[in-house]
This record gives sequence, structure tokens and C-alpha cells, in this order.
Amino acid sequence: MRRPLVAGNWKMNHLTQDALSFSEAIPQALERCSDVDAALFATPTLLPTLARALAGSRVRLGGQNCHWEREGAFTGEVSPVQLTDVGCSLVLVGHSERRQLFGETEEATRLKVHAALDTGLEPVLCVGETEEERERGATFDVLRRQLREALDSIGKDRARRLTLAYEPVWAIGTGRTATPEIAQEAHAFLRGEFESLYGTASARSCRILYGGSVKPDNLATLLEQEDIDGGLVGGASLEAE
Ligand code: PEP
Repeated sequence: MRRPLVAGNWKMNHLTQDALSFSEAIPQALERCSDVDAALFATPTLLPTLARALAGSRVRLGGQNCHWEREGAFTGEVSPVQLTDVGCSLVLVGHSERRQLFGETEEATRLKVHAALDTGLEPVLCVGETEEERERGATFDVLRRQLREALDSIGKDRARRLTLAYEPVWAIGTGRTATPEIAQEAHAFLRGEFESLYGTASARSCRILYGGSVKPDNLATLLEQEDIDGGLVGGASLEAE
């Protein structure tokens, strides 16, 4: 029922030439995985190049962040409308690097989810606990708070266009992938929370991606878990294969 989505998050990596080489290799590689959706989150400088080079392929494009206003005096920001203008249909919201390194608040995350939906973009809402929060047994409280605050006043119809990503902060870029059991437990919890907000049918159809040191050799086992519907892949996505 839920088709897996494997999405690369290039973060602040790659130049135009890398994006072009990637765009040549990826459609061919995707022929071997016809039952999986694919997406790439790239920096704004690369998006027009990728949109042209991947036109007609199955790879969807997304921004890694957006402002909540459509336009205005916000130097250095990119708006959701500007992302759609260059061919994006997705946007990451609330990535832990945004929260931790750039002080993105729960309120900013909520505004961004609303703005993305207003513009017709599909937000991929990232949530996840730090190592300290996991160690003191606060994981579910953190996930519940991040989810509920970001989705505050979003109705059922709009919630259908959301994808969630469980990204434990301690697993991002560290090589310490969550075990399939740990990831499954968090995904099942998130699906349960989503169900209490939007009902069973919405929860069953909502894709929940896992992110945190996903590699070619651990993705398949993660995807075997009942509530893991794909991967958000940082470092390993820099290579097309
Ligand atoms: C990410 O940035 O979303 C991520 C999961 O990174 P990595 O795969 O490198 O841990």
C-alpha cells in the first residue's frame, strides 16, 4: 500500500558538474528498482540544472529548507514558490541540522509546513531525538512534541500530502545507524501519533522514512520493517550507485 521512497539529501555538497554526472547515472540505476520512488534534495544553486537534466526521469526534486513567506526582504532565504518555480515538488522541513545549527524553532517548523502545503509542495517533516534525550528515556516525548507542534492546525485533507522522516540525531552522519528494531519502534510510535491526529486510513497511507547513516548495505534490512517506508540518505547519496 505504501510505495517506498528513497531520497538523497545532498546537504551543502556538489557543484554543477557533479549534478550533471549524477543525472546521467541515476536514471539507469533506477531501472533496477522500478518499485521504489526516488527523490533528491539539493541546494538551490543546483536545482535548475537537476530539473533540466532529470526531466522525464522518475527522480523528484526537493529543497532542503524554505522560508514561510512567499517573497520579501529575507536575505539569503528561499521561498516555497521559488522552489516550485525551479521544478521542486518536495521540501525538507525541520531537518535536525536546521534545528541544531541554525536555531530553527518548533514554531518556524510549523510555519514552514503550512507554507509548503499552501504552495503545493509536499513537506517531508523531519523529527528525531538527540542521544541525550534517548538516554534519559525522552525519545517518545520529543517525537510527540515535534510532530504535534509542526502539524498544529493542519487538517486531515492537507495532512495526506505529508511525508515524515524519523532521523535520530545521534545517527546522522555518525555511521551509527539505528538498529532496525529501534527504528521500527520509533516509526510505529509516529504512525500511532499520526493516527490519533488524523485517523487510521491517513496513518496507514502516510510514508515514514528513516534517516541516519543509511548505506547500501543496511537499507534493505531497514525497509523490511513494517513501518519503515523508505530512506532519507545523506552521505551515501552523494554517489549515484
Ligand atoms: C540526513 O542528512 O538526513 C542524513 C540522514 O544524513 P546521513 O545519511 O549522512 O546520516
